[in-house]
Amino acid sequence: MSSSRKSGPKDMDGASEAQASQTEISYEALFGEAKRQLLQAGVPDASLEAWYLLSDTFEIGRAEYLWKRKSCPPQIPQRWQERLQRRCRREPLMYILGTTEFMGLPFRVRPGVLIPRQDTETLAEWVLADETGRQLLDLCTGSGCIGLSLARLGGFEATLSDLSEEALAVAQENNRLLGTQARLYAGDLFDALPKGARYDVIVANPPYIESSVIETLQEEVRDYEPRMALDGRADGLHFYRRLTEEAPAWLKPGGRMYVEIGYNQGPAVERLFAEAGFSEVELRRDLAGNDRVVRGVYRNV
Ligand code: GLN
Repeated sequence: MSSSRKSGPKDMDGASEAQASQTEISYEALFGEAKRQLLQAGVPDASLEAWYLLSDTFEIGRAEYLWKRKSCPPQIPQRWQERLQRRCRREPLMYILGTTEFMGLPFRVRPGVLIPRQDTETLAEWVLADETGRQLLDLCTGSGCIGLSLARLGGFEATLSDLSEEALAVAQENNRLLGTQARLYAGDLFDALPKGARYDVIVANPPYIESSVIETLQEEVRDYEPRMALDGRADGLHFYRRLTEEAPAWLKPGGRMYVEIGYNQGPAVERLFAEAGFSEVELRRDLAGNDRVVRGVYRNV
């Protein structure tokens, strides 16, 4: 393919490349320059990320790029440089793109809400595989990814709650886009829920990082994702204590609770479930082999 390219900007060094692109702009040149800048900024997978930014910004597919079926706009939109610079400052790609995928469904994301993680699909898949009733409560819902994907894929009647109004606004947008008709409440864990409500299933991915560990996280997480969605207080277990204590009052007889946990929190969280009277307490790993989800059944009603 390189034989079909004229004296390409790709063959020049970085400085002249920018100048050359004034006269002869190609997607290859934009891609090469983006990759170079991302590498310099220390972004892992710079090549892949350059491609995501390029394909999303210019709405160009892999085949169109490879076969040169789409020509570059004569004026490169300012948005391209802006987006590239945001990523070079290590803002997460998903905030820049504004959307991500969870359980095969599209979810809007933006600063102020935790970006859905693939690890969390372990929790959603476990709920889908279990025999449960239909009333589901998703606490610390964030973008709504767990509760709304379960509503869509498992036919659950979902109630979502989050302390962050900003997160809840994103969850509401996702609720509308997915057509899921979940009910949303702004409040601390169970605080804003209708009194007397009972659920078959409670799910939560609460903040669980130990406060002292937060500074050691990768820049994208540490500097851009909401602390409030990450910080599980001194030992990381604050919200599991509250959840295991408070959940029984909100569960129907035989109701279940599923929580995401940090890789090193399995035994401690299993113990909290058992101490609060949950039975059939089980731990599951994510695809990377790390402990990731604890589930318990509440029968002592
Ligand atoms: N899984 C997230 C991370 O590793 C943490 C999410 C949470 O605290 N609930 O950054």
